[in-house]
Amino acid sequence: MNKSAPRVCIHSDYGNPFKVNPGKEIFMDDVLKKITDPYLLFQIKQVSSFHGYLSTGAFIGIQMLNIAKRLLEADPGEQLYVACETYSCLPDPFQILAGCTIGNKKLKIRDFGKMAVVVNKKAPEDQMLVRSVRIVLDPAKTVQYPRLHEWYMNTGKVPHEEAISLLIDAGESVYSYKFMDIELPKKPDKRIALCINCGESFVQKNGGALCLACMENIGVLKE
Ligand SMILES: [Zn+2]
Repeated sequence: MNKSAPRVCIHSDYGNPFKVNPGKEIFMDDVLKKITDPYLLFQIKQVSSFHGYLSTGAFIGIQMLNIAKRLLEADPGEQLYVACETYSCLPDPFQILAGCTIGNKKLKIRDFGKMAVVVNKKAPEDQMLVRSVRIVLDPAKTVQYPRLHEWYMNTGKVPHEEAISLLIDAGESVYSYKFMDIELPKKPDKRIALCINCGESFVQKNGGALCLACMENIGVLKE
C-alpha cells in the first residue's frame, strides 16, 4: 500500500487557486477592488456572510437581483418574489438581500439545474396575471469569456476568484432576459384534519384521511 497517497479527494482542489494555478494566484480582495459601486460592495459583504463565502453562483445571484430590480422598476425595499431554477447558490442573495425566503413563500425553487431566475413584484389585488422577468446566464454570451464559459460548462478548473473577476468585467452583458406574464395560483382554502392513523393534525390535501407521513410509511405513495 502506498502510504504517501493523498487521502483527500482530488476534487477538494477545485476552487483552490493555490494548487490549480501555482504562482498565479488571484485573491478575492484584489478582484473586488475593481468594483467602485459601494452598494454592490455592501451586497457582496452581506451575501458572503450569509452564504459562507462569495461563490461564483452567489455573485451571479446578486447580479440577477440587480438586473431584475432595474427591469421591473422596483422601488428600494419593494417586495419581490422569485423562482430560482436551481438550489445552488442563486437563492441566497435573494434571501438575504431581498427578503425572499422559503418560509414567507416569496422564494420558490424549481430545480431545473439552470442558472436562471424568474422575478416579479407583488401583483395588484384582483389581478390574475403578473408581469415577471426571467433572467438567465446565457451560454451564447459567456462564450465571449472563455474561462468564464469553462466554469459555466464545468469543463475546466476555474477558481471563484477568476470567474467572479470575469463576471465583474462582463457586467450584464452575459445575461439574457425575457418579460412574461405569469398566472397567479389561486390560494386554496386551508383545511386542517386529524390523521386517522397517527392522530396528529395536518394540512389536508385532496380530502385524504391520512397525513402524508403515514401515507408514505404505509406505502400508499409508493407507485
Ligand atoms: Zn398520520
